[in-house]
Amino acid sequence: MPERFDVAVIGGGPGGYVAAIRAAQLGARTAIVEKDRLGGTCLVRGCIPTKAMLQSSELYSILKHGDDFGVVADRLRFDLRAASRRRDQVVDQLVNGVEGLMKANRIQVIRGAAHIEKGGGFTVNGDRSHAENIILATGSVPARIPIAGVEYTIDSDGILGLDEIPETMVVIGGGVVGMEWGALYGALGTKVTVLELLPQILPMVEADMVGLYRRHFEKLGGVIQTEANVEEITKDSRSLRVRFRLGAETHEVPAHVVLLATGRVPYTVGAGLEEAGVELDRGRVVVDDRLRTPVKGVWAIGDVIGGIMLAHVASYEGICAVENMCGYADRTPDYHAAPNCIYTDPEIANVGLGEKEARESGYDVKVGRFPFAASGRALTLGQVEGAVKVVADARDDTLLGVQMVGPRVTDVIAEATLAVQQRLKLHDLDLTMHAHPTLAESLLEAALAADGRAIHIQNRRVQRPAPALSANPPIKERAVARSVEEKPKSVDHAAVPAAHIDAGRVEMKEPHRDELLGLYRQMLLIRRFEERAQVEYTKAKIGGYCHLNLGEEATVVGGIAALRPGDYIYTSYREHGHAIARGVDPKAVMAELFGKETGVSHGRGGSMHIFDLKHRFMGGYGIVGGHLPLAVGAGFAIKYKKGDDVVFCMFGDGATNIGAFHESLNFAKVFHLPVVWFCINNQYGMGTAVERASAVSEIYRRACAYDMESIRVDGMNVLEVIHRTADFVEKTRRDSEPRFIEAVNYRFRGHSVVDPDKYRSDEEKERWRHSDPVLLFEHQLQEAGIVTSAGLEQVQASVEGEVEEIVRFADESANPAIDELYRYLYAGEWEMYGNA
Ligand code: FAD
Repeated sequence: MPERFDVAVIGGGPGGYVAAIRAAQLGARTAIVEKDRLGGTCLVRGCIPTKAMLQSSELYSILKHGDDFGVVADRLRFDLRAASRRRDQVVDQLVNGVEGLMKANRIQVIRGAAHIEKGGGFTVNGDRSHAENIILATGSVPARIPIAGVEYTIDSDGILGLDEIPETMVVIGGGVVGMEWGALYGALGTKVTVLELLPQILPMVEADMVGLYRRHFEKLGGVIQTEANVEEITKDSRSLRVRFRLGAETHEVPAHVVLLATGRVPYTVGAGLEEAGVELDRGRVVVDDRLRTPVKGVWAIGDVIGGIMLAHVASYEGICAVENMCGYADRTPDYHAAPNCIYTDPEIANVGLGEKEARESGYDVKVGRFPFAASGRALTLGQVEGAVKVVADARDDTLLGVQMVGPRVTDVIAEATLAVQQRLKLHDLDLTMHAHPTLAESLLEAALAADGRAIHIQNRRVQRPAPALSANPPIKERAVARSVEEKPKSVDHAAVPAAHIDAGRVEMKEPHRDELLGLYRQMLLIRRFEERAQVEYTKAKIGGYCHLNLGEEATVVGGIAALRPGDYIYTSYREHGHAIARGVDPKAVMAELFGKETGVSHGRGGSMHIFDLKHRFMGGYGIVGGHLPLAVGAGFAIKYKKGDDVVFCMFGDGATNIGAFHESLNFAKVFHLPVVWFCINNQYGMGTAVERASAVSEIYRRACAYDMESIRVDGMNVLEVIHRTADFVEKTRRDSEPRFIEAVNYRFRGHSVVDPDKYRSDEEKERWRHSDPVLLFEHQLQEAGIVTSAGLEQVQASVEGEVEEIVRFADESANPAIDELYRYLYAGEWEMYGNA
């Protein structure tokens, strides 16, 4: 009699067993199939055994210097067999623990290798069962590279079987596994040489932090050769020899043991995946952003889908997949705060963006460092090597990432992970009291150092954002220790830029309150900004043309919030709101309209030329549709550089009747460029209604001519815009195929501020007023109990105050100097005439 399950998990590693427990918690009849031991690579051959051994070697290293601590150990020696016995006991205890958890959650454990079939069937040892949903969690195995003599090497599984400490060891591959084992044996006295093909070991860690670690490793007698290309391993009567090339020179190094640590590859052997229709891409199982494979009812998680191959990532994905399949939630995994820990001595840990990565993503960054040599706790431990480095967005102090090298940083990273996950500010860290003496104080000090305010080191320089670029109101200085009676301050929604929300996930639910109110605040800010721009125009403070976004706020805010910081925006002259939604400082936008030196383009561009490279905002192309071919060019560049950024090209319905529109769509499709075409159909191209200007007034249908996926969304509904745009943007990021979105909204004012708008009836305008996107969103927020009318008033008052401040700033800023008027106009020209 075949068994039937709601959920069957194939593979009992940290991805699989965690998924099985969550499925059982949600009431699913669940089975887990495992061909080896429950716990997978992590418990049996990976995370746990290595860390157990590293604990032994750390104790040994400390005791070697025990005299300094007053602990004198005579005849100290390391007993590898005893350490391995302890390691195996730890592993056994944890594997038994997982077995117990399976029983406690009534999960059926099936022993053997599973082979899946189409339609939900799977067989194990010839017995056939059926499951509504199957989760593939078959993990990974060590990669074997094709070099001569590879058979003389051992991998991370084989090294667990060593029963003697080798005199010499060569580690091929300076990744996490190689460096952890290298550090362990280095501490036990083995002479370790690491050969790494890339210019840097541990490429996921910032170069300066790796430098801190490398110095320590080399002090212990270790050798690291980067850019070393291993050619052959040979064996003679006494030892192995590893031959490698460094540039044109060939070198050889002897070794008693050669550890091959050149990464891991997804494991899919014998599970029948391809026959069942599961797609593989270079060995990894292909999934969509909800972790579904293209086969109905088959999902995949963990190392087998590639990406970040870590145990906690596998577990997290397991929970996401199960909650999605059981209809409990609609989760897209969010990896922006996936921590990374390396258990070398000293330890290394990081989360979020490194400094270089952040700069390359277009952030203007602020960095703070604090060395463990200045930490009281590190000194008491006798482990003072290393430092903490925080990286924040200079514009608004949001913490982007943290890198650490030093004692127990693999624990300290937890606080940084929470802060990066929650997109906290530097200031949030220093308002949190840190116990003393702890290693975590170093994180606090690094955050303070970013502002030149560290207490326990001399601050090198004070870094403050330039006033014109500070998007948020200045934070009032407060004491670090607060009175316990002090009520928590209500969230400042100015501090939640919509550009930083998790676009695919934000829902009209209480846990997303801050993000929702951030969106609302941004829409309202754009509305008030534009109304005020119109007033200032009539006072002749603003010259030239001025095209407003009134009525388009949901489209603009929702569309742009779906992008990542590295994506590019190409847009047209109706762009003030677009720039504000992208995070460009509204003061600098208004100052630009006023033609002031503090403007985004130093007052030289005016209303129709707002450009901000830092935010990848290629805005303000004055000619209708002229920026569409530019977006194609950017798409080419990204594709050529194999980047994963997306070009988001925003244009009005009027631009869809020109040749450049068709040429651009055609090019983007033929060359598979990562461009999302975002048509803001506000129903009027200048004074002509779209149905009179266009043969096909449902503009999204035109994309069919170019075989392009296209949709039409309600541009008055911010959540609809954000979800559907995020979906398209992420698909385009993955497959580099252009897509087309038409967001339908209504322009509440004329084409520009000087348009008398006589071509529309008052009734028509009034009708559309009923779908005012800002009022609609207010209503939805109140209906869902996210905010009260008093709460809305609070946000409105803060926006009014901000707009006053924006106008005051623009008004009081200086004009460009007369003799510098040509500066910033044409690239290089000003400098060419000796003005540099
Ligand atoms: P796995 O843990 O690989 O589990 C997959 C399971 O599926 C295996 O038990 C396998 O037997 C079973 N299986 C495969 N095919 C079938 C089939 N057809 N039928 C039934 N069963 C099947 N990560 C960290 O986060 N921190 C660390 O410190 C860390 N240290 C590591 C150290 C080393 C030396 C190594 C090698 C890895 C380390 N990792 C670490 C990585 C971590 O172990 C993996 O990322 C994690 O185990 C992946 O979990 P998983 O569930 O996807 O797969």
